[in-house]
Amino acid sequence: MTEIIAPKGTKDLYLPEIKKWQFIEEQIRQYFSRFLYQEIRTPIFEYTELFYKGTGSESEVVQKEMYTFKDKANRSITLRPENTPSVVRSVLENNLVQEIVPLRFFYIGPMFRYDKPQKGRYRQFHQFGIEVFGDPSAEVDAEVIFSAFGFLEEINIQNIELHINSVGCRQCRPEFLKKLQESAQQKRDELCEDCQRKITTNPLRIFDCKNTHCIEISNHFPKISDYLCPQCHDHFAGVRSALSILEVPFTSNPRLVRGLDYYTRTVFEITSVRLGAQDALLGGGRYDNLFQELGGKEIPATGFAAGIERLILHLDQVPDSKKKIICIVFQSPSFKHKALKLSTYLWKKGFPVFIDYNAKNMKKQFKKCDRIGADYAFIIAEEEISSQSISIKNLKTTEQIQIKSEALDQWLRENI
Ligand SMILES: [Zn+2]
Ligand SMILES: [Zn+2]
Repeated sequence: MTEIIAPKGTKDLYLPEIKKWQFIEEQIRQYFSRFLYQEIRTPIFEYTELFYKGTGSESEVVQKEMYTFKDKANRSITLRPENTPSVVRSVLENNLVQEIVPLRFFYIGPMFRYDKPQKGRYRQFHQFGIEVFGDPSAEVDAEVIFSAFGFLEEINIQNIELHINSVGCRQCRPEFLKKLQESAQQKRDELCEDCQRKITTNPLRIFDCKNTHCIEISNHFPKISDYLCPQCHDHFAGVRSALSILEVPFTSNPRLVRGLDYYTRTVFEITSVRLGAQDALLGGGRYDNLFQELGGKEIPATGFAAGIERLILHLDQVPDSKKKIICIVFQSPSFKHKALKLSTYLWKKGFPVFIDYNAKNMKKQFKKCDRIGADYAFIIAEEEISSQSISIKNLKTTEQIQIKSEALDQWLRENI
């Protein structure tokens, strides 16, 4: 028989790493409730068209990385490569603009991209993100950035840097793109093959090229900051001054363009600088045209997404919030039902309890207690039963006491 293994680019999660996932997910729910975000869950597959219109048909993601297939009724289906278009679709389709106030969502879940797997990068990967709809202000962009930065600090990710830029709007960007294309055309032969292709398809993305020679050349290309219309210029200035009030340190980076096509005005990225290497942890920005692109009226929107695998790589330790574990140890099989009765009592009160039903003797049960990392053993034996009491052994200190059964509640309150 051929061995069945998990598909390339996927990963199983279990102890001890799963603890970090649970920690991050819990922190997301708690932290973002401060800013009144509510959870939204959309399907992991959508009609392909959503991503052509939403993510953008010229984007690298749509061109090269989507899991797209026909279903049995010959519809084109795509496993979501990102969640923002789905959230916008859901808000439009379900008319949530009228229903939910404020229009602020967070999501957590798997995304799918057919990318080259490498450390921290998978084909089924996970993102969490937030979206704010209906607020065009510079201040809300700054609040979104503040919450992103603050979240990374909250989960104790060190050495992070924030880069921000404005990519303009429908009014001012076309003029800039024209100038950028002209400059790139003149240097065409010196650019890498990939950048040459981008000149006509998506010139902004030339700034994303990692080739040092391309970077050197594009450093002399026109900058979007010199082409912003007065409204975009003021908006960007508003974001920067609000960030200063929020005490978020930032760098204005004219090369920052982000990978997706839908951004307007504010874009930002938070990277971790570790051992000299830059690693993007989180990115986002404003996307005021996406609702219209997907057939709705114009609704301003802003948000970010973060890769959970990347965060996990940068997360050293998570606080141990483990509840104390109780092991029930019984002297002989004839006491098994007594043991079960005691554990039922404890489970119903909400304590973590373990019983080794198959153990032959107490020694073996104590060994099991150790292996599962139990804190206390509650011992049921001849003597305890005849005196209506219970022996409690602290497995960390090996100290043992005997208490009356009716004193158990008080002991639990004081010790666990
Ligand atoms: Zn503009
Ligand atoms: Zn290049």
